[in-house]
Amino acid sequence: MKKLVSIILSSMMVLSLGACGDPKGNASTYDGTGEGMHGDVKVQVALEDGKIKDVKVVEQSEIEEIAGPAIERMPQRIVDAQSINVDTVTGATVTSTAILEATKDALTKAGVNLEDFEKEVATTEESDKETKELTTDVVVIGGGGAGLAAATAAEELGADVIVLEKMPATGGSTIISGGQYNAYDKKRQEAQEMRQDNLESLTKVLDVEPANDLHEELINTVQGQLDEYKANGNTYIFDSPELHALQAFEGGDRVGNLELIYQLTQGAEESLPWLESLGVEIEDHVGMVTGALWPRTHQFVTPLMTGPLKAYVDRINDSDHAEIMLETCADELIVEDNKVIGVLASSEDTNYVINANNGVVIATGGFARNHDLIKKYDTHWGGLDDLGSTNAMGATGDGIIMAEKVNANLVGMDWIQLLPVGNPETGGMSGNISINAADQLFVNLNGERFVPEDARRDTLTQALLEQPEHKMFILQDAHDYTDGNVKNDFNETIDELVEQGQVVKGDTIEELAENMGVDADNLKAAVETYNKAVDGEIEDPIGKQVMENKFDKAPFYAGIRVPTIHHTMGGLEIDSDAHVINQDGEIIDGLYAAGEVTGGIHGSNRLGGNALPDTVVFGKIAGTNAANKN
Ligand code: ADP
Repeated sequence: MKKLVSIILSSMMVLSLGACGDPKGNASTYDGTGEGMHGDVKVQVALEDGKIKDVKVVEQSEIEEIAGPAIERMPQRIVDAQSINVDTVTGATVTSTAILEATKDALTKAGVNLEDFEKEVATTEESDKETKELTTDVVVIGGGGAGLAAATAAEELGADVIVLEKMPATGGSTIISGGQYNAYDKKRQEAQEMRQDNLESLTKVLDVEPANDLHEELINTVQGQLDEYKANGNTYIFDSPELHALQAFEGGDRVGNLELIYQLTQGAEESLPWLESLGVEIEDHVGMVTGALWPRTHQFVTPLMTGPLKAYVDRINDSDHAEIMLETCADELIVEDNKVIGVLASSEDTNYVINANNGVVIATGGFARNHDLIKKYDTHWGGLDDLGSTNAMGATGDGIIMAEKVNANLVGMDWIQLLPVGNPETGGMSGNISINAADQLFVNLNGERFVPEDARRDTLTQALLEQPEHKMFILQDAHDYTDGNVKNDFNETIDELVEQGQVVKGDTIEELAENMGVDADNLKAAVETYNKAVDGEIEDPIGKQVMENKFDKAPFYAGIRVPTIHHTMGGLEIDSDAHVINQDGEIIDGLYAAGEVTGGIHGSNRLGGNALPDTVVFGKIAGTNAANKN
């Protein structure tokens, strides 16, 4: 934020000197505009003696954690190269391109010959690179949620740690996720009431044939907990790590490893105080993110996942024995006597040999951005090539490729999760107004509901793929958007989204239908039926079970969404100590993995809000065990 303020202040100083004149030199300044992720990006370009003297970003409303590196580096790149044909900053492509466009716009206004500023710029040759050897205790590959949690845990134990992050900024896909964290939480859940008829949906996980002993044990435990809860006449949100585990197991069609799932749900609860000990603030209210199946979704006080990520980064940066190397890509694992002992990595000008005394943690995220891998493993959906993705650009499956070379076993690679709530332009999550699945309606282009809105993500997406143009509207009302300043999970206010045209609004259902461009009678009928079901007058004909409020509080909002690739559930097989397992079922010495790069936990379908606890819980386990050579 400080950076943003100083950018604005410096631009105000320039403006106060007059839009086109610099009394200190002969520079003339020109304004230009480009389109960023969240609206216009404006720059001011100073020209002197036919050269670009300076480029300043003077106005923008991008998310700092994502766009910051572009805002910081692109102006200098342009000035150094005297060209707008420079590389964009990886991971912040949209903002980088906006800065280039804005600079081009300013140059056009200046009336210069554009060709003079469009020359291509050479990058460092491989032969010019120097080689460096480093030694540490733990090398963590990937600076997203899981990698930073692993590094923090290892640092806390006193180990020397190096985090390699190939992008110019940490955060990975974690930072652009909605920041939803599912966990049983006695304190918060017991402070909130729940609709008692929601308990009926638990028959789906309790009245079933157990798959194994642990499954049976968990079913019996939850049944006991439920009986006690009812006998005591409680009305707060019923929950437990055991129920969370049963829902995650059934939600993933029993494909996931129940032992790891139970470890995840227990760890999710236990990690809340760990996050708080690092200074992370957690909202008091729990909700239910789309596809979560139960109201146990926590949000952090700072937007998206920035709270935990900042806490990890601060801890690592403040440490004298841990560091993050940005723009440094891990290329290969070093193996000696069947043990992983380090990593070969590279940056723009250096090749690194990094020795790890204790262990290497792979936390490189998923493979949604690797078209070859998606194509190879997309056996369930077919034709995923056309879809966008919610993931960061670094989600290219590097960890899977590296570990496969040391004989790591892959599990569940064919389970690729799509989301029904992609931005129609980018496939990303921005503009998604879903903030409470228990209150939202999904409506197709005919104005009809078509799927229980509290269903699993694969059911939701499959149903959406069967609708006209594969498009739907998400409807929420003033029960959740109590005023225009209420933000969605992506730090966007509902008023901003309406102003940008991403969301339409109506004070009546008719007005909403008109603004959506759907049949008003159909929409009215859909809402009336829904409200009767909420009142308990009828059973919802679409089959939604977890419902909270009627859709009757104006203003009403609708945002259009499409399917998008969200999470790759398959990956490296791990055991409960986060050791990577080889194709003979044995531990690969010295190698650990955590986060989206692993497979076998979420089964065929990951519950919404279960990815972040996965990064925290298994990140922490991997970092701890790597530090302890366990
Ligand atoms: P997770 O949720 O599992 O932590 P993320 O997507 O949040 O996954 O983070 C993974 C991080 O790993 C991203 O920041 C990505 O840029 C980084 N990464 C991926 N491949 C490499 C690599 N070869 N070297 C270094 N960093 C990598």
